[in-house]
Amino acid sequence: MSVELQLRSIVLITGRVGPHCAEDIQQTSCILSLFGPQRTSVFGAESDRLISSMPVELKGSCHCGAVKFSLLSSTPVPYQLCVCSICRKVGGVGGSINLGGHSETLKVEGKENISVYKAVMGRDTPQQTIASSERNFCKKCSSMLWLYDEQWPELIHPFASAIDSPELEVPETMTVCLVSSKPAYVRLPEGDKKVYKKYGPYSLEEWHKKHNLYKA
Ligand SMILES: [Zn+2]
Ligand SMILES: [Zn+2]
Repeated sequence: MSVELQLRSIVLITGRVGPHCAEDIQQTSCILSLFGPQRTSVFGAESDRLISSMPVELKGSCHCGAVKFSLLSSTPVPYQLCVCSICRKVGGVGGSINLGGHSETLKVEGKENISVYKAVMGRDTPQQTIASSERNFCKKCSSMLWLYDEQWPELIHPFASAIDSPELEVPETMTVCLVSSKPAYVRLPEGDKKVYKKYGPYSLEEWHKKHNLYKA
């Protein structure tokens, strides 16, 4: 195992295994947890089941059509809604839903129309910092496209709202995280849901594997 992989494993084990984003510095470890060292183990004992389900090709676009993209995803179920202030501000409504994808498979048309927002954490306080993660959006129509962090270049997190096809699976149960940071008027989604003040116990990858929805 390379030094880099060992370091990542250590962070994965000791770091917070959580969702895709956060208002604080935990954000980076959450992103890391999405695709960890277990990634190679899918070719082991579970291979019969997992090989039969290939990664899904997601196709997306911004609203005005200036940006179109596609990528392969092993974690394509839009089950996790984050209602932190970043996700509510950039999402324009009650939060954002991010999927997981393999960044090396990303193909983009209209790259010149993309702009990037690096979230300001703790704005107007002495602790103010800039997140390493980058939210990519269309600079013509403001549609959010995906989240990327150069510290973990193999990962990418398209916004479910940007995906046009295939039609995304309806999750039986939603996970809603960071409800402690939402104002009271923001209502939670209808139907079955697990609600967390901060984060749920599973990363995107773990959740998909637990529900036999991981596409390897
Ligand atoms: Zn656009
Ligand atoms: Zn969020």
